[in-house]
Amino acid sequence: MSVREVENIFADIVERAKALDPVNTRKWFDNMTVKHLNGGSLEIGCPDEATVQYLRDNCKNSFMHAAQQITGHLVSVDFNIDTNKKPSRKSVLGSCEPKLHPDYTFDNFVVGPSNRLAHASCVAVSQSPGKTYNPLFLYGNSGLGKTHLLHAVCSETKRKFEKAVIQFLSCEDFVNRFISAIEEGDLSGFQRQFRTVDTLVIDDVQFLREREQSQEEFFHTFNALYNGGKQIILSADSSPTEIPSLEERLISRFNWGLVSRIDPPTYETRVAIVQKKAHLRGLTVSKDIAEYIANKVHANIRELEGALTTLYAVATTTGREITLELAKMALEGQIEAAGRHIGIADITEVVTRHFNVRLADLQSKKRSQSITEPRQICMYLARNLTKYSFEEIGGHLGGRDHTTVMHACEKIEHAKKADPEMKAVLGELEKQITQVPHG
Ligand code: ADP
Ligand code: MG
Repeated sequence: MSVREVENIFADIVERAKALDPVNTRKWFDNMTVKHLNGGSLEIGCPDEATVQYLRDNCKNSFMHAAQQITGHLVSVDFNIDTNKKPSRKSVLGSCEPKLHPDYTFDNFVVGPSNRLAHASCVAVSQSPGKTYNPLFLYGNSGLGKTHLLHAVCSETKRKFEKAVIQFLSCEDFVNRFISAIEEGDLSGFQRQFRTVDTLVIDDVQFLREREQSQEEFFHTFNALYNGGKQIILSADSSPTEIPSLEERLISRFNWGLVSRIDPPTYETRVAIVQKKAHLRGLTVSKDIAEYIANKVHANIRELEGALTTLYAVATTTGREITLELAKMALEGQIEAAGRHIGIADITEVVTRHFNVRLADLQSKKRSQSITEPRQICMYLARNLTKYSFEEIGGHLGGRDHTTVMHACEKIEHAKKADPEMKAVLGELEKQITQVPHG
């Protein structure tokens, strides 16, 4: 095949993949390149690690199906960095490379009165880590853009200071890793991992409440980094003082730098966000549609995005154009997107019955093994049986962020390979879920 032919086939595959999975489609799909297409394998080139990660996590199946449909035979698909473009430096601590979301950048963040200070402080910190606001503490209700800003700071820091070692993780992850380190008797390894970074970002630190031992460890990590002039960035659902049972000495340290609140977006900001998110997916929604959505959804930007996703899914599966009329019907629930038969509720229903736990427990902050495992299994099944994104799945399971869901999926996937019993349980659950009558 000539280069030209390969490129044409690849362009068809991309178009097909977009049609198969519109929810995860992004405008920058058009910037991908074909590195290799031959026999049964397709290798796709992407500009950076974050997009590689996004595509591997979200789009592998749709690209495989698309490639199979276009070429007529089984094709394995992988995504890699395009070596013709500038290769990104690999950290010596491979596993420490944060998984950054390519959508969560400063460019894609709409600034308005509700988040102006938080945004400006994040930009300042990414320009001179450890020197302006330290620690930087962002707080606000769920779905207002804290995690987005944290990713943006990391991406920007990485772009500006290639060698910077960044650790980005959810507080839940920090606590879990701390507990495993204790169990495995490798506390010093844990400490080395966290105390030698240039920037430490911990999302949702309210999770530290009532975890005395983790608070103690975190306190020492904080001091080591702070004294070394390293940047610390934290987020939470409330201000340091309002986090229940947080040690006084941590509260005071969190208040040392800048504490910045994010409020719910104003109407104008919501309209702009809908337009921004639509653009990101390569869609144009007219101003009246953006205004209609912004009027319908007020407090949570994740829901604003969810409304757009629903509209998009309805438009692509019914083949209709996005009009205000269609938007009204889709969002009033009058028409539903095809191919979305299994909902997260179907999954949680089967899983809670099987493990004899309550839905409220799955959505709670409890992390005993008897709750954590069913919760992670729900995430895994939701990921494999529905079209929901990591964010959306996390939202249904107690507002957990996408890294927690990604971690859960990896863990269960691994357990499925290593443990025949887990494999059998998953098979059984899947069977029950797909047999549930769906309305
Ligand atoms: P939080 O961490 O505060 O719960 P997230 O950062 O996960 O919220 O944001 C939820 C969703 O809303 C994300 O998809 C994010 O991109 C989007 N979002 C929030 N604020 C903005 C904004 N100002 N501009 C664009 N998107 C935003
Ligand atoms: Mg968050």
